[in-house]
Amino acid sequence: MQDRSRNQDIARRDLGVVWHPCTQMKDHESLPLVPIERGEGAWLYDFDGRRYLDAISSWWVNLFGHANPRINAAVRAQLEKLEHVILAGFTHEPVLRLSERLTGLLPAGLTRCFYADSGSAAVEVAVKMSFHYWLNQGKPGKKHFITLANSYHGETLGALAVGDVELYKSLYRPLLMEVTTVASPDCYLREPGETWEEHSRRMFAHMERALAEHAHETAAVIVEPLVQCAGGMRMYHPVYLQMLREACDRHGVHLIADEIAVGFGRTGTLFACEQANIRPDMICLSKGLTGGYLPLSVVVTTEDMYAAFYDDYTKLTAFLHSHSYTGNPLACAAALATLDIFESDRVIETNRRLAARMAAAAGKLADHPNVAEIRQTGMILAIELVRDRQSRTPFDWRERRGLRLYEYALSRGVLLRPLGHVVYWMPPYVLEDEQLELLADVTAQGIDIACA
Ligand code: PLP
Repeated sequence: MQDRSRNQDIARRDLGVVWHPCTQMKDHESLPLVPIERGEGAWLYDFDGRRYLDAISSWWVNLFGHANPRINAAVRAQLEKLEHVILAGFTHEPVLRLSERLTGLLPAGLTRCFYADSGSAAVEVAVKMSFHYWLNQGKPGKKHFITLANSYHGETLGALAVGDVELYKSLYRPLLMEVTTVASPDCYLREPGETWEEHSRRMFAHMERALAEHAHETAAVIVEPLVQCAGGMRMYHPVYLQMLREACDRHGVHLIADEIAVGFGRTGTLFACEQANIRPDMICLSKGLTGGYLPLSVVVTTEDMYAAFYDDYTKLTAFLHSHSYTGNPLACAAALATLDIFESDRVIETNRRLAARMAAAAGKLADHPNVAEIRQTGMILAIELVRDRQSRTPFDWRERRGLRLYEYALSRGVLLRPLGHVVYWMPPYVLEDEQLELLADVTAQGIDIACA
C-alpha cells in the first residue's frame, strides 16, 4: 500500500511540473501516468512492483534490454575516466574507436563521421551539409529537397520540413521551407495482385519525374530506407532504393538515408541499405546506436563530401555546425558496447529466428475482421486495423481506438503504443518466448476490445 502511494505520489507531482512529449496533457486527467523505477531486460518496473513488457523498445531505441550488464559496465568504466569534453579542437578515445568501428561496418565509401545528439539534429546536419556542399561547389541554386509522402525525419524545423506526417507538420507549415513531396512506394497501397517489388518499381516513376523536373535546383533526396516508421510502419521493397541510388547519381543529387529508426538490425540486416546493396551519400544514425542508453547521433558521409569543405579558413567553406554534447564519451562508450554485443552474440543471425517467431505469433490475427494487413520487415511487425477489412475503410481517427488498445495492454502489463490505428511490435532483441506469447495474447485481446 505504501509503495502504491509512492507510484501515485510521483505521478501527481510529475503532472504539476513536467510537460510530456507528444502528449495532449489533458488526457492525463483520465489516463494514469506510469512512473518507472527500474528496468531489467525487456521489462520496465513501476514503484509498486508492477511490470510492463517494453514491446516498443522505449520509442525504438532499446536493443539489448534495460540495464544491460555489459552496456552498464562500459558506461560505468568510462564514467570513471571522462564524462565529457568539447569535440572541437579536442578528441577522445571512445569517439575515435566508434568512428573506426562504424566506418568499418557501413557500406564501403562512408568514411567520415559527424556527430550530433539526437535523430532530428542528425537530419539537420545532413540537410545543411548537402546544401553547403553544393554551395562550396559553386552551385548555390541547389537548395531544394525531395522527400517521400508519409515520411518522418524528426521534429526540429528542418527535419519537420523534409518529413510529411500531417499530424506533426501541418500546424507548423508557415515556419517550414518548401520541399517537393513524391508519392510513397508504401506497399499497403499496392494494387490487388501486385507484388511489393512491382509496386515499388511502379511508384518510382513519381520520383523519376520529380528528379527530371527539379534536379538542377535540388540538393538531396531524403528517405527512410525500407520502413516509414512514424508514418504507420509502412514498408517497401529494396528495389526502390536501388532505383533511387541510380537516379540520384544520374541527376547529380545527394541521397540521404535516414536510418535513425531502421538502423542497427531493425530490418533484418545491420543497416537497411545493405538489402539494396547501395551506398547513400549520407547516412543518419541514432536511437539504437547507443543500445537505447544515451542521446547520440551521427551522420556518416564520403570523402568527396568531406573534401568539398576542406580549405583555408579564410575561404569560409568549413562546416561550422555544432552541439554542446557532440560525440559525448559516455554515449560513445555505450555505442561501442552495443557493437560488441552485435559481434559476440551474432545478433543479426539470432534475430532471424526471433523475427520468424514474431511472424508465427501474429499469424493467428491474419483473418481478423478488423485487420487489413499484417506486414513485417525483420524486427518490425505491424498490424493495420480498419473498420472494414474488405473495403479497407479506416477507423475515424477521433475514435482513438489505438488509445483503447494502449490502455488495455497496460492493464495486462504490456507497453504497446499504436500509431493511430496501426499496432506494431518493435521489441528489444532479447525478447523471450513467454514474453512473445504474452505480447501476442494481449495484442489479440486488445484488438478485439479496441475494435468492438
Ligand atoms: N528520423 C526517423 C526516421 C525517426 O524515426 C526519428 C524519430 O522517431 C527521427 C528521425 C528523430 O529522432 P529524434 O526523436 O531522436 O530527434
